[in-house]
Amino acid sequence: MNIPQLVTAAGIVASLLFILAIAGLNRPDTAKRGTAFGVLGMMLAIGATAISMVSANPSPITYWLLGGAVAAGALIGIIRALSVKMTGMPGMVALLNSFGGLASAFVGYNSFLEHSGGTAAHLVEVFLGTLIGTVTFTGSVVAWAKLNEKSWAAQRLLPGRNWINLGLLLLSVLLGVWFVRSESLLALLLASALMAVFGVHLVIAIGGADMPVVVSILNSYSGLAAAFAGFMLASDVLIVTGTLVGSSGLILSYVMCRGMNRSFLAVILGGFGGATGTSVVVGADGEAREINPEGVAKLLTTAGSVIITPGYGMAVAQAQHPVAELTKRLRGLGIKVRFGIHPVAGRMPGHMNVLLAEAHVPYDIVFEMDEINGDFPTTDVVLVIGANDTVNAAAMQPGTPISGMPVLHVWEARNVVVFKRGRGAGYAGVPNPLFSAPNAQMCFGDAAQTIQAINAALAKTVANAA
Ligand code: NDP
Repeated sequence: MNIPQLVTAAGIVASLLFILAIAGLNRPDTAKRGTAFGVLGMMLAIGATAISMVSANPSPITYWLLGGAVAAGALIGIIRALSVKMTGMPGMVALLNSFGGLASAFVGYNSFLEHSGGTAAHLVEVFLGTLIGTVTFTGSVVAWAKLNEKSWAAQRLLPGRNWINLGLLLLSVLLGVWFVRSESLLALLLASALMAVFGVHLVIAIGGADMPVVVSILNSYSGLAAAFAGFMLASDVLIVTGTLVGSSGLILSYVMCRGMNRSFLAVILGGFGGATGTSVVVGADGEAREINPEGVAKLLTTAGSVIITPGYGMAVAQAQHPVAELTKRLRGLGIKVRFGIHPVAGRMPGHMNVLLAEAHVPYDIVFEMDEINGDFPTTDVVLVIGANDTVNAAAMQPGTPISGMPVLHVWEARNVVVFKRGRGAGYAGVPNPLFSAPNAQMCFGDAAQTIQAINAALAKTVANAA
């Protein structure tokens, strides 16, 4: 087998490993295996690419450039991956998407400059790959800034924004025609500049609660840009991987849009007709009743059924371990405990599932929102741990930024205890009437500390009873 054949074979095996990786990531109990397949596939793909580059240009410069780039990239990646907090993961995913987009845009420029006098098909590949890469790059940088709550990236809706988007797209098409006809670098540069503005404008119009969908759409764009880069570099593995990322990202975005009752088209068109409510919420300014951890422990010992609905605050407090301990204690007392997980709880898809799996909460008591939403009226106690938007009844009222978004109907339970540090709003900035509902009580403080205090109080109660 010669080197090109070896590289092709490695590419096919790597592509199969990526498919197995996505299949594995479908379920929490097979996710680790899926990740291992993905790592293996990526190592194989990088190794095969390095071998083909070295065999095509066997000079010391190739070794140094390749070795230097791989070493620097690996070092930065390892340091960032080891240091990033779980709550910083969505921002990191957005940044990684932006690098994918930027790399594809560079491949486009390189391919154009290296193969001047190319066919029309090649020029179209260059144009589309560069432009999708550029939109992904600037859009993902804005998404990263939004997720890190940078004030310059706060939601802004320019007047006539849909016409601006349409104008930018039409101008790019005209520049594309110019580029393919005359191979003008200026046309490519101008179109890239327009698409850079388009990326910023598209994402800056998105409101808080729609961000999860945008991150997954940008992820799929980075896949599409990589697929175009694959065509330009004649790399089968890049085409297959890019297409996998592109299509699975689009499917995830579509599923999330359906779960959140949002129009898929509206979100990918930059919040076209999106929610821009005034945040005036009926019933959100009433008095809230307070309860301390000992009081919660007492309430729990009288319960027959408990549902725990975690949110972003559980991740911030790293409260998953005390929550897992509390679950064990309550189940030990014969109380039925289940978890209700909203599809966009936390700051990334599956955020809560990952935390609960890390704390060894059994999978069979963790339910999705649709599976558990009908059970609240027959539940004795709901523990809302650091969740806010995902349990906000304001979503049922018209005219708020989260109107129409399905939420967990926790207020229908007999008792609700909300664990958070104050009465502040959640990510979407909408006041929550749950806090002053007659059957709700607030347990203020860091969720890890308050849950630990409940565990201690429960341990005391059990010891006293023994
Ligand atoms: P929210 O972000 O709405 O609310 C989290 C709450 O946690 C806050 O109100 C905060 O209140 C509380 N909190 C923070 N730190 C602590 C702590 N140490 N201890 C106790 N409580 C704490 O969370 P949800 O999970 O309900 O909603 C997720 C939101 O994020 C949705 O709007 C979703 O659209 C958005 N989003 C989701 C993404 C995803 O993919 N899942 C990605 C991007 C955005 P206080 O400050 O008073 O303590």
